[in-house]
Amino acid sequence: MEFRLDKFLSEQKNLSRADSRKLIQRGKVMVDKHIVRSAYFKINPEINLVELLGVKVPYKEHIYIMLNKPAGILSAASDTSRKTVVDLLPDELMRKGLFPVGRLDRDTTGFIIITDDGDFAHYVISPKSGIKKKYRVLLDGELTESAADELRRGITLADGTKCLPAEVKINPDNPHEAEVEISEGKYHHIKRSFGVIGLGVNELHRKSIGGVYLDENLPVGGCRELSAAELDKIYKKIQ
Ligand code: URA
Repeated sequence: MEFRLDKFLSEQKNLSRADSRKLIQRGKVMVDKHIVRSAYFKINPEINLVELLGVKVPYKEHIYIMLNKPAGILSAASDTSRKTVVDLLPDELMRKGLFPVGRLDRDTTGFIIITDDGDFAHYVISPKSGIKKKYRVLLDGELTESAADELRRGITLADGTKCLPAEVKINPDNPHEAEVEISEGKYHHIKRSFGVIGLGVNELHRKSIGGVYLDENLPVGGCRELSAAELDKIYKKIQ
C-alpha cells in the first residue's frame, strides 16, 4: 500500500494538496525521522512513520464518528443554506467524502454515525443486516399495550407499506413515553408507524445503533470517533 506523501498528508490531515506540498517543501514533514522535501516521495503507512511538525500522522483508511445530533440540523453531507451534521464536525475529524449513515429527521435528536465508508453505511442501513436502532419516543397521547402490539406484530403504514415487527417498551411510569427498536429505516418510519395507531410523536431521540449506545458524555452537537470495540459490535467484519 503506497501513497504519495502529499496525497497521504492531505487525506489524513484534511489539508489541500497545495498546503501539504508547502509543508513538505518547508521541511515540516519527516518520514522515519528524516526530513523529506519531495511531495512525490512514496510512503507505506503500515511501514513508515510520518510526522508533521513532530507529531505522528496516523493512517486511517476510513473514519467512523458518533455524533449527538441536535434538533434543527439536517442529516446530509452538505446543503446550500442549512446546517448539516457534517458541518458540526471539528477540523481534526473533518475529511473529504464524509456523510451520515442513514437519515434522522431534522427535529430528531441523538445518535448518528458519520463516515466515509460506503460499504459500512450500506451494511448498517440495509434491513437485511438486521442492525437494530433504538429510539426514545414521546407521544401526544397514552400508548396502550394493545396499540403497542400492532407495532410488535409489524404495522402496515397508511400507504400499504408493511413494516417488520418492532420491539416496544412502554415506560411504566409514563404511558406517553416508549422505547422502540427497529431494524429498518423507512422514511419517517417511527412517526408514520405511530400515526397508524392515532398517536403523534412530540419528541424522537435515537439512543443506540447495533447495540452501541450514544455516549452519555457527549454534549448535544458533540462527537467522537467510534472505538474499535464499538465498531466491531456494529460491524463484525471491522476489527
Ligand atoms: N423515524 C422517524 O420517523 N424519524 C426519524 O428521524 C427516525 C425514525
